[in-house]
Amino acid sequence: MLIRRAELGFGARVADVRIETGCVTEVGARLAHRQGEAELDAGGAALLPALRDHHLHLYALAAARASVRCGQPDVAGAETLEAVLRRADGTLPSGEWLRGTAFHESVLAASGIEDFRAWLDAVLPARPVRIQHRGGRLWWLNTAALRRLGVHPAAVDTPLERSGRDFTGRLYDADGWLRQRVGSVRPSLAVVSRELWRWGVTAVTDASHANGRADYAAFAAAQTRGELLQDVRVMGGAELDAVKDAVNGSAHLWRGERKFHLHAQALPDFDLLCAQIRTAHAAGRGAAFHCVERGELIFALAALDASGVRDGDRIEHAGVAPPELVAQVATLGVTVVTQPGFIAERGDVYRREVTADDQPWLYPVRRFLAAGVPLALSSDAPYADPNPWRTAAAAVARQTPAGTVLNPEERLTPEYAVARLMAPLAAPGVEVPRVAAGMAADLCLLPMPWRAACRNLAHIVPVAVWRRGLGPVASPACAALG
Ligand SMILES: [Zn+2]
Repeated sequence: MLIRRAELGFGARVADVRIETGCVTEVGARLAHRQGEAELDAGGAALLPALRDHHLHLYALAAARASVRCGQPDVAGAETLEAVLRRADGTLPSGEWLRGTAFHESVLAASGIEDFRAWLDAVLPARPVRIQHRGGRLWWLNTAALRRLGVHPAAVDTPLERSGRDFTGRLYDADGWLRQRVGSVRPSLAVVSRELWRWGVTAVTDASHANGRADYAAFAAAQTRGELLQDVRVMGGAELDAVKDAVNGSAHLWRGERKFHLHAQALPDFDLLCAQIRTAHAAGRGAAFHCVERGELIFALAALDASGVRDGDRIEHAGVAPPELVAQVATLGVTVVTQPGFIAERGDVYRREVTADDQPWLYPVRRFLAAGVPLALSSDAPYADPNPWRTAAAAVARQTPAGTVLNPEERLTPEYAVARLMAPLAAPGVEVPRVAAGMAADLCLLPMPWRAACRNLAHIVPVAVWRRGLGPVASPACAALG
């Protein structure tokens, strides 16, 4: 097909773009029409490389859509939380699980409630309730839920946290155990996949550390069914060492990095971690480290230094990175994949709860770029908003919900922010391809020229999206254009 009068390079010029067999084959001022070729007049609107989300969690995102939100900004206090839970309880058949997400202790703190399990028991004594902490690794369970899971305080082999002889209701890092006990089926990815597509996201990296062979097969099957439209890179555990890249229908599936979910309060054995990094490298995989706190980043960098760095090694989040650690990341040559969306959603909580020492180094972006560190942005959905345009807008504004600008020297321009969402999945920090002959036709067409669109960055919705020249989903506006 031939796209006429497309604005390229963030407003740099207007040209015609020819797409053949999934690639951009020609870009020129006035390309001659070929017989039988479809034409689309962009009318000077911006044509950009399609977006990639370099770190999200697809199944958790789909599950969150079917859950009750239990945290900011929807729920700000105990009274609202109680009302939201009671309303959800009223709509569910008796005995069915109530699943909550995005909870944070600050919701209950103002009311002086410390024992969340007891509070849940008082609100919903009969309904099994599981509520996920907004960080993603902790679940809260009420007593009806513990009963449903068939666990008794006398049992010795459960991952549930205890206080004395009884359970606290907290469950850390045990999603696999919980899924098995709850017996839940995987949610469909159809809705979230189409939503991402509509925003121009044609490829994603699923960063779930527990991904194994069954998850890899589930992604493949979802692509084959046409339920999952995006190309997907799958991070995960050692099980994925043995899986093969594949093409499923029109979508590609790749094995991604071995993911290490570091947690400052319970860091793994250093030598064991180093051995696991070397095993991943020997299997041809990079290593990726969840590093939200300063101590996690120090630990990950020490382990990489001791094990040797390989192409594809990544730091996820880099939530606190003072200058000496930024320099170390640069020296090691590791890529950073970070999430400015957290500032837009949780910035005020950071300002209250993060120590004064760490405040100046929260979610640096420019500092990494200035040090020559390859860097990409991502959403970490469902733990922050999946809309990539809001992610970019958050990197530009760095504004907390209350309106404070967090470390303003780290703000990006709209062009730079959006470009950090365009690199190939396998190399998230590389310079982004311009729309030029020879590139795969992964493209999105905005409804207007860039200069107008970027004034309202957070609200951009492309009118057409192509992956390798094909557009499985066209919005109504696309038909109007064509
Ligand atoms: Zn994540």
